[in-house]
Amino acid sequence: MENNTKFSDLGISAEILQAVEEMGFTQPSPIQEQAIPFVLEGRDVIGQAQTGTGKTAAFAIPIIELVDPDFNRPQAIILCPTRELAVQVEGEIQKLAKFHRKINSVAIYGGESIDKQIRVLRKGVQIVVGTPGRVQDHINRGTLKLEDAGIIVLDEADEMLDMGFRDDIEAILQEMPEERQTVFFSATMAKPIMDLTRKYQNDPHIIKVAKKELTVDRIEQVFYEVKPSLKMELMARLMTVNNYALSVVFCNTKRMTDEATEALGSRGIVAEALHGDLSQAQRDKVMNKFRKGLCTVLVATDVAARGIDVDNVEAVFNFDLPLDEEYYVHRIGRTGRAGKSGTAINFVTGRRDFMKIRDLERYTKATITKMAPPSVSELI
Ligand code: ADP
Ligand code: MG
Repeated sequence: MENNTKFSDLGISAEILQAVEEMGFTQPSPIQEQAIPFVLEGRDVIGQAQTGTGKTAAFAIPIIELVDPDFNRPQAIILCPTRELAVQVEGEIQKLAKFHRKINSVAIYGGESIDKQIRVLRKGVQIVVGTPGRVQDHINRGTLKLEDAGIIVLDEADEMLDMGFRDDIEAILQEMPEERQTVFFSATMAKPIMDLTRKYQNDPHIIKVAKKELTVDRIEQVFYEVKPSLKMELMARLMTVNNYALSVVFCNTKRMTDEATEALGSRGIVAEALHGDLSQAQRDKVMNKFRKGLCTVLVATDVAARGIDVDNVEAVFNFDLPLDEEYYVHRIGRTGRAGKSGTAINFVTGRRDFMKIRDLERYTKATITKMAPPSVSELI
């Protein structure tokens, strides 16, 4: 389904609209679209979405809108699990606030001189981004006071709990006014997080955003058990028997993409390799040939295949099973596009592969059916 919500539909200021435009964001992501209006309204929110879905702007935009630039004390605090994230989030806040009236923010985290952070805090900031341990440290020293902080965001809450920050987080929450807005963002919503939200949130609005790529309903997923030495032969046979218009083969290494391309070629199947060593011009040439059907098989690594958008790919072969479940979903999403059906074919060469297939079934919430290899009669 096409989604046409614009940033200008979300009730945010012209200054922020200008900033998101300059940042190249043409449309709000689903978590932004669903979270921004509620956070702006002052509601407690739980936002569950995977990494890379734009959670930062989902809380940063409303926070910028809600803080008062004329009042030079911490009004919003954002907790992050790592210093890198704290720095990144603070940087994104400054980019989003570029056309806004001056808002002061600071990132405070362990491993950096606390005196420098104290000097910045003394000058007065409206938004504090920090790791729980260092934030708690500043509170204990009296260099950070949260009595005027009406908003707290726990970014990557699951990770913070995994890292053992629970006590710090609770201590920080208890420093804040009772009448505050509490927002949780997390990739998962395991019990320890739900316990925290029950304890510290007030009638939260819950948002769950599924990864877009997780819609694999139209794709038939199968696997073949095969000896490693016969994998190439079986793949070539399946291509011949089924006569797919276009198919994509995924390998885990550049070397394997070259080997597979050659092996298919020697069996009369016109294949081209796509991997990170090719220049942009070479890649374009390969993709054009594939789109036009001048080669029917594209053999690619995960990185090279990112963004491949070709409509009539009928089959995806995982010559090597992917190292990561997310990659699997990306890979098989190359087929079954534009309302067409497609097949994802996996090869299992041992117990570990078999266990991986079971993991992938759980991850995609779909069945991966075991197939018998094609018989000799089908090949005649
Ligand atoms: P998350 O916290 O969910 O992992 P981030 O907030 O770090 O995601 O965003 C991931 C990337 O997407 C960043 O590079 C960010 O600049 C970019 N991004 C965020 N929102 C949008 C948008 N609406 N349009 C395009 N890119 C966006
Ligand atoms: Mg994030």
